[in-house]
Amino acid sequence: MILAQAVEFEGRGLHGGRDARVQILPSRPGSGLSVIFDGHARPIVSLEMSGRDRSTVLRDPASGRELGSVEHLLAALAGLDVWDATIASEGDEVPVLDGSALPFARGLRAAMEQGPAPAALVPSSSVRVEGGDAWIEAEPSDRLTLEVAVDFPHPRVGAQRLVWSKVDGSFLEDLSPARTFGFLAELPQLRARGLAAGGGLDCALVFGPDGVLNPEGARFADEPVRHKMLDLVGDLALVGRPVRMRVMAKKPSHELNHALVRMLRLCCHDGGGRGKVDQ
Ligand SMILES: [Zn+2]
Repeated sequence: MILAQAVEFEGRGLHGGRDARVQILPSRPGSGLSVIFDGHARPIVSLEMSGRDRSTVLRDPASGRELGSVEHLLAALAGLDVWDATIASEGDEVPVLDGSALPFARGLRAAMEQGPAPAALVPSSSVRVEGGDAWIEAEPSDRLTLEVAVDFPHPRVGAQRLVWSKVDGSFLEDLSPARTFGFLAELPQLRARGLAAGGGLDCALVFGPDGVLNPEGARFADEPVRHKMLDLVGDLALVGRPVRMRVMAKKPSHELNHALVRMLRLCCHDGGGRGKVDQ
């Protein structure tokens, strides 16, 4: 898919709480995903990533400039198979909107048209990253399938596990509406660290001691594990092309997702020794 016209999203940043505006511009087919820093479009595969503040922050090594909270926008691009586009932001954070990828996906879909798809990355053998009791393992497959398990010590969340495959339309329906989530008990700590300044019930699913605080309730009974999958789809977009693999993850985080992406980027760039690029 390619974009026929530019799409713009405006709102506030989740962590800074400031106004944030981002434009997604059409790019020449085959040019890939890129982000404009200091007036230069930098290929997404050349950007450094970090999992600061529970979001994905991209850093341009050339200018030292950063763009935070990119993962839900990237999830919408990858989930809809838009692989040629340029992200231009006025601030240092992508707007949080409703805390999910749905508004991004709807906006992109309205501007999309058929275009050539880049070759998919298929690792030739399984890769594994781990940290503490969390791990992610990826093995070659004919499509992207995620198998994610989370466990939060809250009576309304607890252990959740879901298997999902990317087929036409499945990202939009199954994952894109799942909102970022948090626990009321954590809010004072987050605020004390300067995080979640723009956070509220309109842009996150919040669990209080007795259940969901949002008046409209949850969008899915297992919204947290679906959101973890959405984040994983967004972080995997940093490979710069579709991936065909089965990804099994226990308690994935942005840091762990990034470790997997670094391994996949290596396997993509070492000439096929540990991975191959396939149509
Ligand atoms: Zn997220």
